[in-house]
Amino acid sequence: SAVAPDAKNLRVKLVLLGDSGVGKSCIVLRFVRGQFDPTSKVTVGASFLSQTIALQDSTTVKFEIWDTAGQERYAALAPLYYRGAAVAVVVYDITSVDSFTKAQYWVKELQKHGSPDIVLALVGNKADLQENREVSVQDGLEYAEKNGMFFIETSAKTADNINQLFEEIAKRLPRPLT
Ligand code: GDP
Ligand code: MG
Repeated sequence: SAVAPDAKNLRVKLVLLGDSGVGKSCIVLRFVRGQFDPTSKVTVGASFLSQTIALQDSTTVKFEIWDTAGQERYAALAPLYYRGAAVAVVVYDITSVDSFTKAQYWVKELQKHGSPDIVLALVGNKADLQENREVSVQDGLEYAEKNGMFFIETSAKTADNINQLFEEIAKRLPRPLT
């Protein structure tokens, strides 16, 4: 009879970076609790949550998520959170070209100071606000491809692509040798 192989259990440190107000905390809350709270509070410093997902190959991935504050006065603290992170998720708001510019700043910072094998994801959030779009899908995709990043547009409000974001990241993690 077939014996199921042992499930591999991965634990990864993930950091969210991006301008204040792009929806980082809402993405985390949607992923971890399945909720969207339009009156959610501004993150002070950083907050921590974890969530485990199972992949089809029976690997489980426990994400240890550091959700940072985007305000300038906390920028100097960012290295504390991305240092040693296996994954960095850089978020912008598709209705704000300024937030896309800020996202590019974070990508450069991570390329300079993050760990060399870090998995980078670029996320265009608030995809439900199509009528206010300032950043095209094409612009997001091109920037991500040029920088070797995974790209996805999400909506924390409607839950669109939130689970897919974390599943795609999980698939891209370097696996321990067996
Ligand atoms: P953070 O500063 O990046 O953590 O942003 P927050 O998660 O605090 O969200 C900032 C604001 O954007 C809040 O008013 C949220 O309700 C709103 N928001 C977050 N995600 C979405 C989204 O996907 N769609 C829409 N329409 N609003 C969102
Ligand atoms: Mg926040």
